[in-house]
Amino acid sequence: MATVYNWQIGREMSYPHEERHPRLQFAFVFNPNRCIGCQTCTMACKSTWTFSKGQELMWWNNVETKPYGGYPQHWDATLLAMLEEANPSGQVWDARDTDAEKKPYGVFEGLTIFEAANQKPRPEFGSQQALGYLPTDDQWRSPNIHEDTAAGDLFQKVGKDQYGGEVELPEHKVWFFHLARICNHCTYPGCLASCPRNAIYKRPEDGVVLIDQSRCRGYRKCVEGCPYKKAMYRPTTRTTEKCIACFPRLEGKDKVVSPTGAPAETRCMAACVGKIRLQGLLSIEEDGSWTKDPQNPLYYLIRQRQIALPLYPQFGTEPNGFYIPPRWVPRDYLVQMFGPGVDHAIEQYSCPDRELLAVLQLFRANQQIVFRFEIDEGPKVGEIEVTMPNGTSKVQELFNDTVIGFNKLGEEVVRVTVEEPTFERPADVHVNSI
Ligand code: SF4
Ligand code: SF4
Repeated sequence: MATVYNWQIGREMSYPHEERHPRLQFAFVFNPNRCIGCQTCTMACKSTWTFSKGQELMWWNNVETKPYGGYPQHWDATLLAMLEEANPSGQVWDARDTDAEKKPYGVFEGLTIFEAANQKPRPEFGSQQALGYLPTDDQWRSPNIHEDTAAGDLFQKVGKDQYGGEVELPEHKVWFFHLARICNHCTYPGCLASCPRNAIYKRPEDGVVLIDQSRCRGYRKCVEGCPYKKAMYRPTTRTTEKCIACFPRLEGKDKVVSPTGAPAETRCMAACVGKIRLQGLLSIEEDGSWTKDPQNPLYYLIRQRQIALPLYPQFGTEPNGFYIPPRWVPRDYLVQMFGPGVDHAIEQYSCPDRELLAVLQLFRANQQIVFRFEIDEGPKVGEIEVTMPNGTSKVQELFNDTVIGFNKLGEEVVRVTVEEPTFERPADVHVNSI
């Protein structure tokens, strides 16, 4: 085992391979506050990559309803329970010990999946580089099980007719939310660590994690070792497949969306109806730290403002998918899922300042990847009263600023205002005009 640095858990950890980092890293921010669970992203991915024989139950992109839904079923609850068993009452954070660069969320004092595998190998699964398990066929069978099923004590006790009054901010007593998921193209992938054939690799140019199909023998150790269960076995080829981050689009090879060859977002990102997704390529230093770049929208949201948080950072793979926590959900559930940065993130999202509100407009405004943004200030257009997480009210000032995005080549690719423009159809042109 080598020793590597994981900024998301704020400390060094053991990993089966030496530390090495790509020049750019594929990353994304999802905003579950806006996801409507329409599954357009899911079908965009499926109709592009997994429509063939043997891939019927393979959903590289899925959207599950939390807390009960999961694909495969119970993937996160199962691993959390295994980690707890390996380290009873020890899976805790020290959230006081922070540093913006090295440990923005504090220090995770428990065991990662790599450390837990060392400490407590599970003989029933054979030797393991990462603590994990192989889901059963049944658990893969229903990708959208428990869709829109709410949780909450009151709901359980008195039934749906009486729970209406219990859905008021800052936290709903009856709640659910949609969690959209793809492979996180982790910095320290559990799948890669687990592969006995060294068939899995991370591309140096963009950090995308791929499985070399000619080396794969279908042992499914990666299925076992990916804590997010995003490596999936295909029985017809007897190999494992996973999200490839639509790499031809990343390489600017889709001439329809990238006429000048600049990197474009993946199919699932580009199709998102709810405008919850923003994808980027982040510049990475040799030691794995992120190049300081506050004009890059992803750097700005994740590192500068810390409004978007990693999914289960305690697993230890340093995932490159980040989420703006849904503000109505009980905080202890969110902290378990996104770590101790939740309160800070929700506080900012509840009443975004002028700059943050402008950057949030970039979600799904364009198909090419935005590497840099600028803001043109506009007039004040209103004020609204908002409920803050502590239950108090605050007045938010609204300005009609314009955010401008530039692609990798420095070309302007998007220009969008905070106020959505409205258009009136001329009555004499369209029969259905008012
Ligand atoms: S999410 Fe899973 S499949 Fe994707 S890189 Fe991380 S460990 Fe591998
Ligand atoms: S397309 Fe967007 S809004 Fe619809 S389910 Fe997917 S992530 Fe959610």
